[in-house]
Amino acid sequence: MGGRLAGKTALVTAAGQGMGRACALQMAAEGATVYATDVKPELLVDLAGVANVITRKLDVLDDAAVRQTIDELPALDVLFNCAGYVHHGTILDCSARDWAFSMDLNVRAMYVTIQAALPKMLDRHQKTGAWASIVNMASVAGSIRGLPNRFVYGTSKAAVIGLTKAVAADFVNKGVRCNAIAPGTVDTPSLADRINAFPDPAEARKMFVARQPMGRIAKPEEIAPVVIYLASDESAFATGQVFSVDGGMTI
Ligand code: NAD
Repeated sequence: MGGRLAGKTALVTAAGQGMGRACALQMAAEGATVYATDVKPELLVDLAGVANVITRKLDVLDDAAVRQTIDELPALDVLFNCAGYVHHGTILDCSARDWAFSMDLNVRAMYVTIQAALPKMLDRHQKTGAWASIVNMASVAGSIRGLPNRFVYGTSKAAVIGLTKAVAADFVNKGVRCNAIAPGTVDTPSLADRINAFPDPAEARKMFVARQPMGRIAKPEEIAPVVIYLASDESAFATGQVFSVDGGMTI
């Protein structure tokens, strides 16, 4: 099968819904063998029959499970760290528990997956010259923009960008690229949950729409092509960068 990812092996975290799912599907359509993982296996059921997709339950907060899953796979060409959680609130609303959960899921889990995946990537590069691509999910909220009620979320996503650049710098001439994407507001199930948590969901949706100068929210399928680009050899000269796809939020 042809395609920009033909012959490549990819692991996607949080592939059950939202952007992870859209990316897993587009990667498979581009010819990659995609390990689509999620903590909720029920979200993966209808991906199981898709050509080139292999589904696996994986909780990225479970270090041992992450290491075991990655150890069982061949060297990854693509690791897409998508899992993350949006805590709503200021520093005054953020308990120590909220802080730990968001930092563990949004940042620490990437440290664990990358540390597990790198040795095989490096070894294969030494043997064959093949390059691997790590793509990390950041956000406009973080070091790019400070947004209201995104205290620990923004902190964690800023850390994702730091992590991305650090990994890129250490392995820039060793066969591994590492980039991040920074979406604006994207219409995913968790966004719907966040909107519905407001006393007036219709007003809340308008507020989320208004954050983008384009006057709308993105579809997950509009973010996935950037991930495909970063996963593929089309982006062979790009590393350590943050790719914003945000409807004009950062013009
Ligand atoms: P979502 O939030 O609707 O879905 C998240 C998925 O993550 C679910 O399938 C869930 O089961 C899975 N998940 C949760 N905990 C997990 C764990 N411990 N291990 C494995 N999987 C787990 O999807 P989304 O909105 O596309 O968000 C995906 C990523 O994109 C997150 O990192 C989020 O912060 C980021 N992001 C979202 C937006 C947005 O507006 N939706 C914007 C910028 C960045």
